[in-house]
Amino acid sequence: MTIPKKPYRIKTGESLPLLPLRDIVVFPRMMVPLFVGREKSIRAVERAMESNNIIMLAAQKSARDDNPEPDDIYRVGCVSEIMQVLKMPDGTIKIMVEGLQRAEIASFTESKPMLMTAVEKSSTISAVMTDTEMKALVRGIVNLFKKYIKTDSSLPPGMETELDSITDPEELCDFIMANLSIKTEERQKVLAENDLVKRIEDICTHLESEIEIGQIEKRVRGRVKKQMDKTQKEYYLNEQMKAIQKELGRSDLKSDIEELRQKIGKAGMPKEVLAKSLKELNKLEQMPPMSAEGTVVRNYLDWLVDVPWSKRNRDNLDTKRAKKILDEDHYGLDKIKERMLDYLAVKKLSKTGRGSILCLVGPPGVGKTSLGKSIARALGRQFVRVSLGGVRDEAEIRGHRRTYIGALPGRIIQSMKKAGSINPVMMLDEIDKMSMDFRGDPSAALLEVLDPEQNISFSDHYLEVDYNLSEVLFITTANTVHNIPAPLLDRMETLRMAGYTEQEKVKIASNFLVPKQLKEHGLKNRNISFADSVLTNIIRHYTREAGVRSLERVLAKVCRKVTRKVVEKRKYNPKLSVSLLKSYLGVEKYRLESAQAHSEAGFAVGMAWTEAGGEIMNIEVSVVPGKGKLILTGKLGDVMRESAQAALTYIRSRARMFSLRPGFYSKSDIHIHVPEGAIPKDGPSAGITMVAAMVSAFCKVPVRHDVAMTGEVTLRGKVLPIGGLKEKVMAAHRAGIKAIIAPEENERDMEEIPKNIRREIKFTFVGSMDEALSAVMTEPVFKQ
Ligand code: ADP
Repeated sequence: MTIPKKPYRIKTGESLPLLPLRDIVVFPRMMVPLFVGREKSIRAVERAMESNNIIMLAAQKSARDDNPEPDDIYRVGCVSEIMQVLKMPDGTIKIMVEGLQRAEIASFTESKPMLMTAVEKSSTISAVMTDTEMKALVRGIVNLFKKYIKTDSSLPPGMETELDSITDPEELCDFIMANLSIKTEERQKVLAENDLVKRIEDICTHLESEIEIGQIEKRVRGRVKKQMDKTQKEYYLNEQMKAIQKELGRSDLKSDIEELRQKIGKAGMPKEVLAKSLKELNKLEQMPPMSAEGTVVRNYLDWLVDVPWSKRNRDNLDTKRAKKILDEDHYGLDKIKERMLDYLAVKKLSKTGRGSILCLVGPPGVGKTSLGKSIARALGRQFVRVSLGGVRDEAEIRGHRRTYIGALPGRIIQSMKKAGSINPVMMLDEIDKMSMDFRGDPSAALLEVLDPEQNISFSDHYLEVDYNLSEVLFITTANTVHNIPAPLLDRMETLRMAGYTEQEKVKIASNFLVPKQLKEHGLKNRNISFADSVLTNIIRHYTREAGVRSLERVLAKVCRKVTRKVVEKRKYNPKLSVSLLKSYLGVEKYRLESAQAHSEAGFAVGMAWTEAGGEIMNIEVSVVPGKGKLILTGKLGDVMRESAQAALTYIRSRARMFSLRPGFYSKSDIHIHVPEGAIPKDGPSAGITMVAAMVSAFCKVPVRHDVAMTGEVTLRGKVLPIGGLKEKVMAAHRAGIKAIIAPEENERDMEEIPKNIRREIKFTFVGSMDEALSAVMTEPVFKQ
């Protein structure tokens, strides 16, 4: 469209044919092609062609109107010249017109066969304005239009130069309107505006809003394009991946999802879980395969499918059969076996089977874990073990939320998956070795696991849905009860497994461990035989423990040596002797902790309890010239150091009775030493031994070498009860001790002590230190 300048003067009341226009408003100096099809319009064009090619163009109010009446046509239009006419084969014509001047239809003079009008020139006025003001207005509109040009890429290039060449404001308006695409009504309004200033302002408003729309459009287009690029890339890559997978013969995603759907259907999930799984499956279907989110959902669904929801093992509640199995697997442990059989009996009658949770407490290797396994075997349930040693984070029990990368369910749910049934025997091992830090308290989570009120709906962070743990038979284990968090301990019934006597160990070895090792090494009875005396020798000199784990290891070592001999067909004596044992196992590792062969002043034997069982503990006291210092050596804990102080104070308070001079200690240093301190020992129970050793050193009277003692002493010399008597007594028995001094309140623990030990050792229960000293000293130390 170009804008030629052509002066044309409309005569007032000039009669012109009218061409009504749909959807277009022609401005002066604007050249447009028009398609003319309506009969009346063709006639109007023809009439114009017959005279001077001048025609009146005015827009219809409604574009849809095929036969507009005078009222349906805007009054203001544009007198134009027809530049070209092209007849089309279908009878219509195409004309090229050029706008000349704004004009108003004064009246319609004919309506058939075409519309004829009498027109009048519309004169442009401009409100009183200075030149400068007009210039400013013009500059404003020019700038705006230049901005507009930038947003509309459909405009032909070179527009700006053309714009700069126009100086007349009205011409400028016409030029802009020729190139601005806005609605017909708006264009008509601009055309009909006689006031030039107002016209310019109107155009400015349109320009501004068009520029804004253009910018928004541009932004949106940019965004859409980016999105399109990304989707196209993903689509392309996915298609490629599918092709690769097809080449590799892998099943495609569809069948994978179907397979998963079937698994979900078969998993026997509760309603909510099923709903959740199907929802996630739908999500998975929508996601591009192998995408990061897809993998997360996929893993999650795998977990939901793999965790047991309804599969359970039928309990075998036959107590006779259970007893047989428990006896088959373990020697002794009668009390615990009884307790288990009681449990079965209760379950058989009550059906609910919610008993308290058992906690097996004892040193390592006494058979806690293997007992759990036999209970599962007796019941006909699966056995799973969860080790809690070192667990310090709640998330280890409850899992991490799915939003974490590499998140997994907690140990409880993982073990349930391993068990594959909802009612396994679950052993929570080393419940006393859990710790707590800033990441949350695992024992709180465990409390929920073990509480029958809450474990029906245990919540794991990863699983998100509640899981029913109420059918699981929980058994916990610990080395000591002291370190079990109190609320947990409260939920459990503790059963102590103190460790085995030497005779028991021999029995366990010959009846259980040796046959087991022979079988594992593929040996026959004729290949090797262990006499009881040899087993005792192994127990005494190659192991030092309350349980039988090292014993089992040593037996395995012997079996390995023998197996090699058998395989290499070498000659050897299958009857194991002590000397042969040495050749297999090397020199004896431990000599029997034994009491001294003779009594000596300043020396006393105590008994200590450690996590690995009991031990005897020699205490040596030496009094040397000095300044009254108390020196303590050996690996002693704080409580034992304090016992030593208390012992000295007790002796000082009784100095007269012991015939000691006043200030007897101020010119000497007292050195207390507890040898064999590799195992840290602590606790107040060494009190009476310390007092005895110190009195013995001061009075130079020996303590009986075959007596071992245990008991806490108060400053006033009262003897208080101690814990772990059974372990201590067994250690003393192993060491060949003949008499034991213990607090009188511990007399009630005697029934725990094996009968043969009770027979072989003389027990003296004392209420005060004075009584203890009377019993242990080789000569009286009290002044008569
Ligand atoms: P814990 O769990 O108490 O540390 P384990 O259960 O691992 O000990 O036992 C160690 C080994 O000792 C196992 O092979 C177990 O079979 C054996 N054992 C322990 N006590 C007995 C027993 N009373 N009768 C037979 N074998 C036993």
